[in-house]
Amino acid sequence: LRRNPGEPEFHQAVREVFESLEVIQGKYPEYNDRSILMRMCEPERQIIFRVPWVDDKGEVQVNRGFRVEYNSALGPYKGGLRFHASVNLGIVKFLGFEQIFKNSLPGLPIGGGKGGSDFDPHGRSDGEVMRFCQSFMTELHRHLGEYPDVPAGDIGVGAREIGYLFGQYKRLTNRYEAGVLTGKGLDWGGSLVRKEATGYGAAIFADEMLRARGSSFEGRRVAVSGSGNVALYAIEKTHQLGGVPITASDSSGYVVDEDGIDLDLLKQIKEVERGRIHEYAERRGGSARFVKDGCVWDVPVAIAIPSATQNELNADAARTLVKNGVEAISEGANMPCTPEAVSVFRQADVAFGLGKAANAGGVATSALEMQQNASRDTWSFEHTEERLTQIMKNIHTTCLETAEEAGRPGDYVVGANVAGFRKVADAMIAFGVI
Ligand code: NDP
Repeated sequence: LRRNPGEPEFHQAVREVFESLEVIQGKYPEYNDRSILMRMCEPERQIIFRVPWVDDKGEVQVNRGFRVEYNSALGPYKGGLRFHASVNLGIVKFLGFEQIFKNSLPGLPIGGGKGGSDFDPHGRSDGEVMRFCQSFMTELHRHLGEYPDVPAGDIGVGAREIGYLFGQYKRLTNRYEAGVLTGKGLDWGGSLVRKEATGYGAAIFADEMLRARGSSFEGRRVAVSGSGNVALYAIEKTHQLGGVPITASDSSGYVVDEDGIDLDLLKQIKEVERGRIHEYAERRGGSARFVKDGCVWDVPVAIAIPSATQNELNADAARTLVKNGVEAISEGANMPCTPEAVSVFRQADVAFGLGKAANAGGVATSALEMQQNASRDTWSFEHTEERLTQIMKNIHTTCLETAEEAGRPGDYVVGANVAGFRKVADAMIAFGVI
């Protein structure tokens, strides 16, 4: 705490992993060396830089850019870039720390990192976003590459931003190095299913948790928060699995659609027009209503997939969900549930899939994109989706088996944290003190 003041989200993320590791204390003597934990908490490298750019009025704007290259024990640093006004070093460190274990869990040969900027793309023109991205990459490019560090998207960074970032990287380096970024467009090195992967994966993980309890999505009401990349495709997969997704939200409020979310309409408003969520209720009519500034978790559902941002679901919301009979929570976002909310779910025996496991489908498919780039190949949608589904099922099994071995059967938090930690720790031990 003393070394990292003013970084509550980072402390929260570290505490969660350490609490899980307490469960296995003494069980594996090879991890008794405290320096492994100390080294794991300290990023290998933190880059903070000025991002100056010119807005449409001709005025100079200055933002702050970050890249935290956290841990490369298993492979090149890998993790998204977030463009949002709330981004600061503590947020990037929390996300980077989580990413280490998330990337290790499916057995992928990639390390952990995260980056971004306090730039807010909302209301900015395409030209402004492009100039910002070009300035951001002008500094960051010297740290990136297929082998050292491979960013992707996150909040506020989608296909448009990845395009501008990749274009500038290519121009500065004079190299068509497709493997330097993931989440690319399909015509220039991207992978089918990458766009869908995180949301699909979170719904598949929920399905696995339900099946493990002899239950299913069939005909059940599902709440999804957010209406960005993760939320849209969590809704799509929920439909495919037989569930009825009835909510979506953004920072202005949420919509409830008792007939099930009309995904084509939501995609049109959010992906194409970059509009606000209230427009959904206005255009859908009868079955849908918009609730301004409300809490989406007040809606009675059997399954919840929080897919907006960190700490969006607190203890009160968790109690409401439990009272309404929720059976499973699958974290599409990173750390969307507060520690108090997680305790409520665990005490109520709700199946709780934490983000490190439940939303790992995105980064796993990024690794598949890197594989395709390295072999100059492109895979079909069906093949890539099958790989994603298998990866999510394997993560689910690994979590359950590890939790069982640790003496905490059915505890996905312990299972994911311990399994993710062990691979990274084993590699660090093999490398000596570095
Ligand atoms: P997007 O930018 O596409 O969408 C984010 C959504 O969440 C928007 O609807 C946004 O609403 C809402 N939101 C963001 N911040 C807030 C806030 N403070 N309060 C309320 N609503 C908010 O991001 P993604 O869908 O890519 O990411 C969502 C989450 O999933 C993040 O936690 C991210 O780290 C995590 N994640 C994403 C992955 C990916 O592949 N994209 C991979 C793994 C995890 P508004 O437009 O009003 O801000």
